[in-house]
Amino acid sequence: MKQTDLYGYSGRILRVDLGSGAVRREPLSEDLVDRFIGGRGFVAKLLFDEVPPGADPFSPQNLLIIATGPLTGHLLPSSGKTHFGTKSPATGGYADSNMGGHFGPALKYAGQDVLVLSGCADRPSYLMIDDERVEIRPSEHLWGRGALSAEKQLKTELGDDFQILAIGPAGEHQVRYACISHDFGRQAGRTGVGAVLGSKNLKAIAVRGSGRLPVFDLDAAFAAGKEAFRKVAAKPGFSAWTPEGTAGITNWCNEMGVFPTRNFQTSYAGHYPRINGKAVLERLKITDKGCACCPTPCGKYGHARTPLGDAYVEGPEYETIALFGGNCLLPGIEDVANWLCDELGLDTISAGAVISWAIECFERGLIPESRIGRPIAFGDLSSVDYLLRRIAVRDGIGDLLAEGVKRAAAEVGQGSDAFAIHVKGLEWTGYETRNAPSMMLAYLTADIGAHHSRAWVLGHDLAGAWTSVHDLISSDRAADRQPPAVIRPDCARYVIESQHTRPLFDALGVCRLQYMELGFEEHHYARLHHVITGRERSWEEMLRVSERIWNLTRAFWVREIPGFGRAWDNPPRRFTSEPVPDGPNAGYFLAQEKLDRLLDWYYQARGWNEDGIPTRQTLLRLGLPEAAEAIRGGK
Ligand code: SF4
Repeated sequence: MKQTDLYGYSGRILRVDLGSGAVRREPLSEDLVDRFIGGRGFVAKLLFDEVPPGADPFSPQNLLIIATGPLTGHLLPSSGKTHFGTKSPATGGYADSNMGGHFGPALKYAGQDVLVLSGCADRPSYLMIDDERVEIRPSEHLWGRGALSAEKQLKTELGDDFQILAIGPAGEHQVRYACISHDFGRQAGRTGVGAVLGSKNLKAIAVRGSGRLPVFDLDAAFAAGKEAFRKVAAKPGFSAWTPEGTAGITNWCNEMGVFPTRNFQTSYAGHYPRINGKAVLERLKITDKGCACCPTPCGKYGHARTPLGDAYVEGPEYETIALFGGNCLLPGIEDVANWLCDELGLDTISAGAVISWAIECFERGLIPESRIGRPIAFGDLSSVDYLLRRIAVRDGIGDLLAEGVKRAAAEVGQGSDAFAIHVKGLEWTGYETRNAPSMMLAYLTADIGAHHSRAWVLGHDLAGAWTSVHDLISSDRAADRQPPAVIRPDCARYVIESQHTRPLFDALGVCRLQYMELGFEEHHYARLHHVITGRERSWEEMLRVSERIWNLTRAFWVREIPGFGRAWDNPPRRFTSEPVPDGPNAGYFLAQEKLDRLLDWYYQARGWNEDGIPTRQTLLRLGLPEAAEAIRGGK
């Protein structure tokens, strides 16, 4: 195959076996592109085909895959996205995580769309890719360093034009929710991808590329890209979105009563004006910071002064605010700033969830002071600092908490699993959903565990509409009592539509925020995809690819987890039996029988059996004979 057959792509997969040192480049297959588009689609297919069933996530047989999409690296809005995938050490199932910045474009310019890492290096190492040159180099001098300082050191050694991925001590110590960092503040945060890199003895990856990408119709691509920038800039939310970034949603989440507070005990934090977007602006922000080609940079680079010291930091974005400001109840935006998590290489979402669970356990007398080493409390920065530093190196209590809430609760016992807030072993993110049935269903069925980015349908539950975030947060609303959300079959339909739409951007290799948050129309993406790749796919056709990917990742779970089924789609008992004690959603909870009805509607609409297993007929309809063969249990 000639490389130019695949316009938009580099046309190659780079495979590096860290055990043997073997480096191989192979052509990207037409079938992979046709059936899975790129990014998340490539990750799902390669993991399904190449990770041996039953492999231990920390074994050399597991893969860490880094994949770009056809739009990554081209001159169009927000084309800096890269996708990471592996078998998760947090859940044991399918895992992926998306990251912005500049790494993906550099990987493509260096001549490959996908990097597949297998094996395990026999000493601490880093991988250097400089166009055609690929070397596994020793990294003892970086081992033990924070992710940010390792990135800085490699930039000093190799040059500023290298794009760097690095893990911190948490990845080295295989904390099950360790992340991969890039660009001094961007992370592939979820599902423990950093722990898998650590298990392969790989501290960092550096890439520099100087090649060109083939484009099907360069003049049309240039015109379509230019028009896209112009149209995004004309959207009503454009100038409102950038200053505060995702932190701007903090007020709305509190006023609607969906802000996780004190380990999801409640859903409203009275001090939210001290940790909201305005606080980021007034107390932290120095400048906006964005990914490659982003017209709406949501990153906020700033300076945090805390009682424990000063730090320059990107963030905090909304999820970090929710999990540390709400769930751990830290009092001010400076305390919430995520410098320490970033340096240690910890996912702020899981870290905040695990720490808030530990504090609740301590308050209830389930984990004694003698085991922790000191008292810990909600609202206390020194407690959080103390635990983070121990988690990252698995020291003392940190070794238990490094396992994540599901495993830690299984060890602690005494009913602590009722308030270990996760699905499938992945900690829940920044939305409390006891009065938001669609969003609850989205969390329960997300294909990496409890994560919001697969389907954000709070607008459907709370505003009765399928609406952009900008429209939601710009409406005036006082923090009064919410009406009870209605359970109905179209909750399942909205969730499924969203689960096909949002992850599609991860396959294309662009940011979804301009579409989801500003209402930038879908036909632009179909047009950009056509003029860059030469492949005509309507938006609806692309959504069918997204549905194929969704079913393939479900099949991965079925294959990898013995007995996988409906029970894996349930929330912790807190959400089905404890009413929210105060705030706008006071008194609400979602009884298990209501959730069962939601799951019934969802499985039916997806063409899965009553236990949530894709049927053979569904898998064949979606062109997935390999999955149908692998999980013959589906009927
Ligand atoms: Fe990156 Fe944020 Fe821009 Fe998306 S909106 S491309 S995440 S800076």
